[in-house]
Amino acid sequence: MRSFWRLVAAVACLAIGGPGLGPAAPSAPATAQALSCTYCGRPIEGRYLQDQGRAYHHACYAGHVAPRCVVCNQAVMGSSRVDRWGFHAHVEHGKGINQCAYCGRIIGAGSTGGGVAYTDGRAVCNLCRKTAIDTPEAGVKVMRRIRKRLADWGVVLDYPPIPLQLGMRPWLQQVQRQGSFAFGGETVGLTRAVVSQRVRGQEVLDRRVDLSIYALAGLPEEVFASVIGHELMHAWGHLAGSQRRQPQLEEGAARYVEAVILAEAGSPEGAKRLEMIHYDDDPTYGTGFRRVRRFVETRGWPALLEILRTQHDLPSGY
Ligand SMILES: [Zn+2]
Ligand SMILES: [Zn+2]
Ligand SMILES: [Zn+2]
Ligand SMILES: [Zn+2]
Repeated sequence: MRSFWRLVAAVACLAIGGPGLGPAAPSAPATAQALSCTYCGRPIEGRYLQDQGRAYHHACYAGHVAPRCVVCNQAVMGSSRVDRWGFHAHVEHGKGINQCAYCGRIIGAGSTGGGVAYTDGRAVCNLCRKTAIDTPEAGVKVMRRIRKRLADWGVVLDYPPIPLQLGMRPWLQQVQRQGSFAFGGETVGLTRAVVSQRVRGQEVLDRRVDLSIYALAGLPEEVFASVIGHELMHAWGHLAGSQRRQPQLEEGAARYVEAVILAEAGSPEGAKRLEMIHYDDDPTYGTGFRRVRRFVETRGWPALLEILRTQHDLPSGY
């Protein structure tokens, strides 16, 4: 997952000067009219603040216009960190600034009502905590719902309920290391398929697949649902055939399902995650997603399922 951080320059450019000397107006008349404060409308004399071309009294700006820091609730007059939601925090808070691992908000009383630190180092805000999936029992309910949704799209898993385990990061990484995953690499969810086949020469006489799904505990429900959609798509792929698919096709199709589930949820948080998927520059996940999307948009979803069943990769041109 990539960071949402971007460091912004001073929000308010602190332009200090008298009327006529401000940086805004080299072409302004020399006999400038008395400058007035954009907030209170009263005239300005002496020093003033300018933000996006508008002038303010220092007190008006600090008290009413400047963004508030979500950590200390004081006005942000200089450099700040800002998240994608427009929440600010003074850079001076340094390590005291935590960003929610899932919605990307800077965690603070003024933005999320605080948050928690998981034992594996993830910071999660109290908004995301409201729906967090902490137990397999809660997870299985979501999995059932997503499995139904996939069936609507023709992705029918001919399989009993798939065992689900949840845990913290080190546990998931360990699971990832010990298993032989056809397509691993993710750290939020994993699908394990143990395939046993009876063969005679090139002919497969009998094929048995044992599936398990593993995911990080404590994901907000909407994120969990999209991760489960992604993993169920891999699970379906294991059941659908033994051919080795190109990673871009395999991961691209799983990401496509992940994206559709997020889009259906329709929340602003989901929209932001969706944006990350669309612009992901990872050569497997990002490029794979865009190739699959292009294919589905022109040839349709059933055609993609047919490709997954029978081919190693998308046809040329996608
Ligand atoms: Zn004023
Ligand atoms: Zn602050
Ligand atoms: Zn959050
Ligand atoms: Zn995957």
